[in-house]
Amino acid sequence: MKAIRHAIRQAATLCRLVQTHYLIAQTKAAGDHKEPVTIADYGSQAIICRALQRYYPDDAVVAEESGEQFMQLVAAEQRAQVRQLLAQVLGEPVSEAELVSWLDFGAGVSAHRTWVIDPIDGTKGFIARRHYVIACGLLLEGQVAEGVIAAPGYRAGEGALFYTQGGASWRAPLTSGRGEPVTVSQRNEVDEFVAVQSVEPTHASKSRMRLARERAGLGEVQVRELDSMEKYALVACGDADLYMRLPRPGSRYQHKIWDHAAGVALVQQAGGMVTGLDGGRLDFSRGDTLANEGLIASNGRHHERVVEAVQQVMGE
Ligand code: AMP
Ligand code: MG
Repeated sequence: MKAIRHAIRQAATLCRLVQTHYLIAQTKAAGDHKEPVTIADYGSQAIICRALQRYYPDDAVVAEESGEQFMQLVAAEQRAQVRQLLAQVLGEPVSEAELVSWLDFGAGVSAHRTWVIDPIDGTKGFIARRHYVIACGLLLEGQVAEGVIAAPGYRAGEGALFYTQGGASWRAPLTSGRGEPVTVSQRNEVDEFVAVQSVEPTHASKSRMRLARERAGLGEVQVRELDSMEKYALVACGDADLYMRLPRPGSRYQHKIWDHAAGVALVQQAGGMVTGLDGGRLDFSRGDTLANEGLIASNGRHHERVVEAVQQVMGE
């Protein structure tokens, strides 16, 4: 895992370079709609998969981007730019063939261990210069085991690396340095509670989440909106107490496992709870998508009450 943490730190460096100097967004087809993608998404995934190929050559990988998409969607000039960025961050030249082989490493493989990668989660936030993360989770036989999340926007851009190790969750400086253990908050008092949720109004139903908070007696809590799995990291380290993701009425969106695996590991190992909307486990065993239509992550206080309230709101 140490090698993966190092790779994720390198990926964060690449993402910051792109954001500062070369930010160009493109769109890719994702099911029935389009989603943004940048050269940093490919660069970040290449760095993480390169480390996986080196240290875990027999493992399976489920990752958001692919080599085929990179070759089809990205113009030659930008592909060269990704190679140049990788060379800069890794300190060695990189050929296009190597780059494509890294992007596709472990895809379609079936193994005991599956690495689940979101090279940039919150791409809309990355492009808008809000929050985004680089995330890698590990599933063992379809169950969430470990997670690493680099959050460059944490604490007003100071950034941090969050990770699990030895059954605990840790927070370290973004680019180098040792971690300190973190735990979920002990906050119980409603007037001190902090809830976090997505910025993008299409990603979750803000009105349902407000109603669910009200029904759970948490109508007065502070609500902070930010993009990406940084929300899980904030719950894990006690900066926030509740993260809900309730689908909009009529939504048929299926959540991708790479948007959740690393965050779930962090919150659970920090002593918190993550469940589906019915209070049951999140199901990571069905391929690329989660079986659950939404989730609730919390410090464990009031979790049952929130589940009950969510059930009411979803039934209306
Ligand atoms: P967040 O910033 O927490 O909303 O998370 C960003 C993630 O939401 C991205 O990785 C997207 O894959 C995912 N996403 C995109 N569209 C939707 C949608 N309609 N509903 C739920 N999540 C979505
Ligand atoms: Mg994502």
